[in-house]
Amino acid sequence: MKDYYSVLGVERNATDEELKKAYRKLALKYHPDRNQGQKDAEDKFKEINEAYSCLSDQQKRAHYDRYGTLDGMGSGADFSSFSSSFTDIFEDVFGDFFGGSSFGGSRRTRPQKGNDLRYDLSINLEEAAFGAEKEISVPRWQNCDTCYGSGAADGKSPTSCQTCQGTGQVRFQQGFFSVSKTCSRCNGTGSIIDDPCRSCKGTGKVKKTRNISVKVPPGVDTNTRLKMTGEGELGLNGGPPGDLYIFISVEKHPIFIREGEHIICEVPVTFTIAALGGEIEVPKLMNTERLKIPPGTPSGRMFRLKGEGIQKLGGYSRGDLIVKIYIDVPKKLNQRQKELLEEFAEISGDDVTKSFADRLKGIFSGE
Ligand SMILES: [Zn+2]
Ligand SMILES: [Zn+2]
Repeated sequence: MKDYYSVLGVERNATDEELKKAYRKLALKYHPDRNQGQKDAEDKFKEINEAYSCLSDQQKRAHYDRYGTLDGMGSGADFSSFSSSFTDIFEDVFGDFFGGSSFGGSRRTRPQKGNDLRYDLSINLEEAAFGAEKEISVPRWQNCDTCYGSGAADGKSPTSCQTCQGTGQVRFQQGFFSVSKTCSRCNGTGSIIDDPCRSCKGTGKVKKTRNISVKVPPGVDTNTRLKMTGEGELGLNGGPPGDLYIFISVEKHPIFIREGEHIICEVPVTFTIAALGGEIEVPKLMNTERLKIPPGTPSGRMFRLKGEGIQKLGGYSRGDLIVKIYIDVPKKLNQRQKELLEEFAEISGDDVTKSFADRLKGIFSGE
């Protein structure tokens, strides 16, 4: 391994400023632009950058000073990815030197995708089950209507920036380089607004609320995300707009409990119907249905109504509705009801409790 200090030609106790200075000098000398096709210069250039990216990093430098190598520094020692990080190092060092220019092309005028937006949409269970069309209002930045995005007042147009002749970039010679730098007068826009539009304060952009129709497909659940391509913030410099993400949350239903594609509903049944059998009306998502209760139905029995649940998201089949019945014991009895029940109890003796007592006995005596 090369000695990084001698590569840069500095003392071992060199300050950050001295390192930077030495690096600048050497990087300019061996830069590939100046030494086209010269393999030696290219290798030397890599070496300088390797040395500098190590010594300019406090942690790496300390490690290197102690061990004379970067082995054991994890990914920090990996210089195979050097070329990708090179631009950053170079910009870091030469940034102020070149007056904030971006080395190798301006980032400011590059087309940029607009930001994504998020909208939280609350729907009820029926809408989740069958799908729905919802109208939502989403604010986003758009071109100002008053100035049509120009930012200038009263139909005037922005004037071309004199400093950069409307290009947004100022070019000048710096040693061997022809450097282009973002124009500081117009901030790289290439135009100057003398009289700014009052609606948008000269920015050309206003926040506007748009109504968007959202098709909610059947089967969505809380945490389902719907993506609406191109409905996010507008892009910059001709870039595409971002996307709009709709985060679904399904409200709690007063009687139905959802379990995936199935729904569960607890329905009360009088003890007489449970004992004698009969029909009850049970609720479904959209209407009701008569359900036959066979004689002697115990509390807690479940009845399955096939295909009355929720459609599978992106599929065609529907889950089931599970009706769980419970016996509704009357809290108040009139005189006649009381008499009849007492008579009923007398006739049946205490059969029920007796058989249970027998079973208990069986448990405790180990029979
Ligand atoms: Zn405006
Ligand atoms: Zn300018």
